[in-house]
Amino acid sequence: MFDKILIANRGEIALRVIRACREMGIQSVAVHSTADADAMHVRMADESVCIGPPSGTHSYLSIPAIISACEITGAQAIHPGYGFLSENANFVQIVEDHGLTFIGPTAEHIRVMGDKITAKDTMKALGVPCVPGSDGGVPDLETAQKLGEEIGYPVIIKATAGGGGRGMKVAKTAADMEQAFMTARAEGKAAFGNDEVYIEKYLTTPRHIEIQVFGDGKGKAVHLGERDCSLQRRHQKVFEEAPGPSITAEERARIGKTCADAVAKINYIGAGTIEFLYENGEFYFIEMNTRLQVEHPVTEGIFDVDLVREQIRVADGLPMSFSQDDLEINGHSIEVRINAEKLPNFSPCPGKITQYHAPGGLGVRMDSALYDGYSIPPYYDSLIGKLIVHGRDRPEALARLSRALGELIVDGVETTVPLFHALLEEKDIHTGEYNIHWLEHWLETNLGNA
Ligand code: ADP
Repeated sequence: MFDKILIANRGEIALRVIRACREMGIQSVAVHSTADADAMHVRMADESVCIGPPSGTHSYLSIPAIISACEITGAQAIHPGYGFLSENANFVQIVEDHGLTFIGPTAEHIRVMGDKITAKDTMKALGVPCVPGSDGGVPDLETAQKLGEEIGYPVIIKATAGGGGRGMKVAKTAADMEQAFMTARAEGKAAFGNDEVYIEKYLTTPRHIEIQVFGDGKGKAVHLGERDCSLQRRHQKVFEEAPGPSITAEERARIGKTCADAVAKINYIGAGTIEFLYENGEFYFIEMNTRLQVEHPVTEGIFDVDLVREQIRVADGLPMSFSQDDLEINGHSIEVRINAEKLPNFSPCPGKITQYHAPGGLGVRMDSALYDGYSIPPYYDSLIGKLIVHGRDRPEALARLSRALGELIVDGVETTVPLFHALLEEKDIHTGEYNIHWLEHWLETNLGNA
């Protein structure tokens, strides 16, 4: 087993990885920018190395600084967390060239899944159901217009290099096509340096359902059911749960097996998430994330497994510690993302935490790097914590969420906690009847949020 792992990340996810290392008897190395010298992940790790100035580009994204930190500390492997370098194939290649281990998939798998057209082609060939649309890239407006008629409006134009909700435009009718096509292209070019786009049927009222998969890199893979992440704002998830309230055991077994078989066939290693839109009982693949997701704790909650521990094991060449038959769903789990943001516009709200108290008790997990007196720096993502609850069933999990939110104290900055208190008053949240547009409509109606 590795003796020492470097965590190329910050915040709650760095803590999450340090915790797994400690339980496995592995030394942990934190890296940090000058703005994070007092951060909790630095305090909790066995060692730490400053890798640059506040800007992420010159610290957490600096490949030379991270590789040097491994060399100085003797770390043998790197866990990338999510975001930053976690889906950077070039980084993985460099890590391996230096004789180090990347805790995650191969550079090749990251490359294939990072390009949405290649990802879709690959998944289609592996038998995974996809959204109807263009076969690959669409070269010009004329072809786009022809395809719009064939597929049937509304359609969505997506940049193949897109991510984080950028580089996507909807054309409701033929009249919108020119503008949507040009904008998606321009956004792809500006944000990702690639103007290739493709077209898909736009599903009007789908849910976002994603399947957690896990492979050993040697042709064996399992699935750990689904997460429903339909409650989104600007394509960013804010509330996630497992199992999905609309998914039957039969559907789960079927789509889960399709996904596990697909990743087994390509010898996928580690954790991955295959994202789908789900409408009228059908699953439509949209993308695969080749990393641990922010919302992984809800899956850990219902299966009682440690996904980070498992990632470390398979990266070290060990077999997975569970098989498909061992994986049985137990109860219901919900996660809410707590951001340092001011409602109603969700504007970032960094600053000093004057008081912090984490909720506790049965079935409550708080993943956060906050502490009393901590100053949230303005340079990074506004996620400051994830509150995860587990109950024997969905109503119990919802009641527990409400109770735990009531115990949580974060003073000094504005947070998204009031949003969750308000959502828990809504009937649709309790019946589980919501799709990917529900939250945006709710925000518009209740907060006047555009
Ligand atoms: P990104 O990589 O930017 O996250 P995705 O392809 O995962 O992009 O899509 C993000 C979100 O955009 C989805 O969760 C869904 O809300 C919406 N979306 C994407 N494709 C479609 C589609 N074909 N029809 C309707 N909504 C879509």
